[in-house]
Amino acid sequence: MVSTRSQRKAQLAATVSTTPLVELKIFQDLESIISFTEVATVQPEHGAAIHELAFFLNISSLQREILERTLSICLSLTPNVEILTLWIYPPISVATFASIPLPRLEVFRSSLPHRALLPFVATRPALRALDLGSCGRARTCTLSTLSLQHINDLTCRTSCAPRLVHQHLDRLRLVMNDFGGNPLTSAVISSFPVAMHHLQILTVEFTAADLSILRVIAIHIPALRNLKMLERFKANKHAPRAWDDRTGWSSALRKLSQLEQLVIRTDGAVAHAAGDHIAEREAFRKWVGGARPHPTLRYIAVWQRCRADNYGVISEWSREDGIWTGKWSDGVNGVDGSYEVFA
Ligand SMILES: [Zn+2]
Repeated sequence: MVSTRSQRKAQLAATVSTTPLVELKIFQDLESIISFTEVATVQPEHGAAIHELAFFLNISSLQREILERTLSICLSLTPNVEILTLWIYPPISVATFASIPLPRLEVFRSSLPHRALLPFVATRPALRALDLGSCGRARTCTLSTLSLQHINDLTCRTSCAPRLVHQHLDRLRLVMNDFGGNPLTSAVISSFPVAMHHLQILTVEFTAADLSILRVIAIHIPALRNLKMLERFKANKHAPRAWDDRTGWSSALRKLSQLEQLVIRTDGAVAHAAGDHIAEREAFRKWVGGARPHPTLRYIAVWQRCRADNYGVISEWSREDGIWTGKWSDGVNGVDGSYEVFA
């Protein structure tokens, strides 16, 4: 039955009166964005209460224009948003909403190609965290034409990183492209145009073949406190890993003289057999310095033979009162039942 205008108005008034004010909204379809904008238009408190907005949408070509328009209305109604996620396929244009002031926006995550993002990011001097998807078809990263000195937390592809990093970053995550053609992460870090002396938290994706990864990190990012290394792409599980050169590995760890936490996810193993406690103890002892202990390192976690969430062995080493102790758990249960540390 088609409802009349007054019926729709009454319906909307009823919806407004029963909708609670929330700080977070996650949208996965166009209809729910439209109904939210209707509610927030009638009662602006609903928009003003929003601190975090996330859009995870797969749209048809017919929906594209409506979505661009609706997003523009939605963002105009949510002036206090601090965290914004735009995960939208296929990509849309940001032209309709690029200039909407979002003065409190600090964290922006997006899957959109960087060329499309340019006008939106260019007008956000208060942004401090940027989480980017793949660059798109541009030959060089378009975002490199902007000054991103105000960003201190950056997540981006290894292919964009050398053009986007700057010396004031304190947190960086380097992600590889899913479909190969990636440069070695160590080569990417070597090509950074500036020394990263302020960077404290680094997560890198790398391949098993990247044997100099830790040595390069220690040279270019010496003040790290927290390092996470996530191996990507299948490799022979017996292929040599960077840590097989125990002397080189422990000397690189020693150069990271402020490192407190090291987390590794690998399809390989620390010793020949994952879970061989005696061999691993021997290896870890070398990592943490043995008779000349590493000054700051206090936690190491390695998820070995990691091919699926419920596979492999997780070795954890922690130091308390100067004494290192190890514990092992299988990949089924994870570390205290959680994989978050390896994400
Ligand atoms: Zn880019």
